[in-house]
Amino acid sequence: NPIVSTQALTKVYGQGAAAVRALDGVNLTIQPGEFVAVMGPSGCGKSTLLHLIGGLDRPTSGTVWLDGQDLTQLNDDQVTSIRRKKMGFIFQFFNLIPVLNALENAALPMILDGMRPAEARKRAQEWLERVGLGHRLTHRPSELSGGEQQRVAIARALASDPALILADEPTGNLDSRASEEIAGLLRQISSTWERTILMVTHDARIAAYADRIVFLKDGKVVDETILEHRNGEQ
Ligand code: ADP
Ligand code: ADP
Repeated sequence: NPIVSTQALTKVYGQGAAAVRALDGVNLTIQPGEFVAVMGPSGCGKSTLLHLIGGLDRPTSGTVWLDGQDLTQLNDDQVTSIRRKKMGFIFQFFNLIPVLNALENAALPMILDGMRPAEARKRAQEWLERVGLGHRLTHRPSELSGGEQQRVAIARALASDPALILADEPTGNLDSRASEEIAGLLRQISSTWERTILMVTHDARIAAYADRIVFLKDGKVVDETILEHRNGEQ
């Protein structure tokens, strides 16, 4: 069964003459373990799509199925609960807490969600090691490079073992070398650890790391490309 499936997903902001059709009938299905990039120019609806799938906003019409549940049929508390249990978010500006070190940052969402701190720290450390930050556990964000800060955010998103990772321009605040490293890491996370990732980006070089690129224009899917990667490449 797919992890994500949207049907005729439509979002209109505003009303009357000021109405903006940000998404217009998007059908998108993502299978377990897939790494999908949604690409398109600024204003094409990428953030809106990510927000609707992430349950951060509600569609004007159409449906969003996440791991077997129709988000549009649930109330706000139920959606919030699904977001906490089943989704991990990665942002352009990392959203780390400055006074906490890497391990504490990665463990915090699980602790806030009621997990025993020792267990949360164990899981956080495991993922920090997987993303190559085992030697930076006690560093604070200000002591880490941008690419390292994004790795902490990736470990934080993965440590609670979500069904879906949502990445919103994850390389938008990184130089080109760090960007490719982060895109390669997401690819590795999907192929090695079979995690499901939906990433939005306006950068074709970054989208090329995905298994599939969905092209969005004026709120519509206008094209789709499946990429063949050889195992272990990149
Ligand atoms: P992208 O992420 O591809 O840049 P967005 O999803 O942010 O695109 O925006 C799609 C369109 O919807 C744009 O025209 C944008 O200005 C508009 N839009 C996005 N959010 C809102 C909002 N909250 N209110 C009004 N218009 C919005
Ligand atoms: P992102 O960095 O995720 O693309 P944006 O900068 O596009 O986010 O938008 C930040 C916030 O402003 C979002 O909540 C979005 O819904 C809202 N927004 C985006 N475009 C518009 C707009 N044209 N009018 C009003 N709100 C907007």
